[in-house]
Amino acid sequence: MDFEFNELQISVQKMIKDFVDREIKPVAMEYELEDRYPTGIVEKMQELGFFGLTIPEEFGGGGMDEVCYAIAMEELSVGWMSVAGILGTHMMTSWMILHYGSDEQKKNYLPKMATGDWHSGMALSEPGSGSDSAALRTQGKKEEDQWVINGTKMWTSNAEHANMFCVLVRTDPELPKAKGISGILVHKGSPGFKVSRHLKKMGYRGLRTSELIFEDARVPLENLLGKENEGFPMIMSALEGGRINVAARSVGLARAAFEDSVKYAQQRETFGKPIAHHQLIQSKLSEMATRIHASKLMTYQAANLKSDNKRCDLEAGMAKLFASETAEFCASEAIQIHGGMGFIQELPVERYFRDCKLLTVGEGSNEIQRIIIARRLLERYPV
Ligand SMILES: Cc1cc2nc3c(=O)[nH]c(=O)nc-3n(C[C@H](O)[C@H](O)[C@H](O)COP(=O)(O)OP(=O)(O)OC[C@H]3O[C@@H](n4cnc5c(N)ncnc54)[C@H](O)[C@@H]3O)c2cc1C
Repeated sequence: MDFEFNELQISVQKMIKDFVDREIKPVAMEYELEDRYPTGIVEKMQELGFFGLTIPEEFGGGGMDEVCYAIAMEELSVGWMSVAGILGTHMMTSWMILHYGSDEQKKNYLPKMATGDWHSGMALSEPGSGSDSAALRTQGKKEEDQWVINGTKMWTSNAEHANMFCVLVRTDPELPKAKGISGILVHKGSPGFKVSRHLKKMGYRGLRTSELIFEDARVPLENLLGKENEGFPMIMSALEGGRINVAARSVGLARAAFEDSVKYAQQRETFGKPIAHHQLIQSKLSEMATRIHASKLMTYQAANLKSDNKRCDLEAGMAKLFASETAEFCASEAIQIHGGMGFIQELPVERYFRDCKLLTVGEGSNEIQRIIIARRLLERYPV
């Protein structure tokens, strides 16, 4: 079993690491505290081809695999998790178009998504359905040559800057819950559709997370993504990748917390020596590093399975669960190691603590991960 990155993966990692050190770390705190969209960073990411990283070369992208995708998510999150979020939600939609879209849709959307001229968002959750996503109520009805959509979506990330959304709607209310759902691509500016309020968040700031309103919104019939009433398995498959994305972001955030802590612990002195020489602080650093190492192995194993097109809901769920709780643990211990300095907004440590909580809630909460993991294990060990 090979645990090393290949040459291409190493060069992607280096390129993104350099970008993060140069373009993100120096400005992340300023943008975040002002809750300002990082336009300058996004434009540079666009120039470097980040938005097309995993889109095949025939559509103008970099044609890279899910391991490279995870590397990008991890490294960007070392700098600032919100930047990884802007890219992550875009990559998830492009993955769905690539795997389920018609030839026409691929030709139409993927080239402009690869250049980053078009950004996209994913609208699954609603005010009344998050974990129980199959309970969604937004309706899509066919009327002549259009879909007419009515309902409200909640928590759509990067809605302010997205040009298009993959919206999950109920297209057959007669079918059982998860069966009558379809994915429809809705452009910003479609009649009857608006991005309404932006939600005030404690972390994951800089990009807007918003409510979407559909009031007799009209979209051409050809904007159906995949087959009618087969949208639920499609989104579940995309969410496997989404969980690897969250696991990789968690590794990045945990690493940032660890790296800041290990530096601080060697500089800050108490009782005549650096706090890194106190065994209780050493214990914290060891525990952080060990959990990060395990999270990393789990994340890249799941990413490897996904890039080989193998089912990986168990591995992706385990990686997401373990890595997000590692991020939470490391963010909390980082504040402890920094003492009072960890609690004020002069260092990024307090931001890690605010950001990490999303990792255990989003993309299927950790309670839901535990249920999925147990379900797969019970299937694997029948009696
Ligand atoms: C900042 C942010 C960005 C987001 N971005 C997006 C996005 O871009 N697109 C999108 O579609 N969604 C997005 N979401 C939504 C996110 O996926 C949901 O918040 C998440 O799935 C949880 O759903 P919920 O908030 O409705 O909580 P609920 O489903 O109401 O759950 C509340 C609590 O109950 C627990 N729970 C629920 N069911 C069970 C059960 N069966 N057993 C045990 N415990 C249970 C949950 O784990 C949770 O702790 C985002 C959320 C946030 C906060």
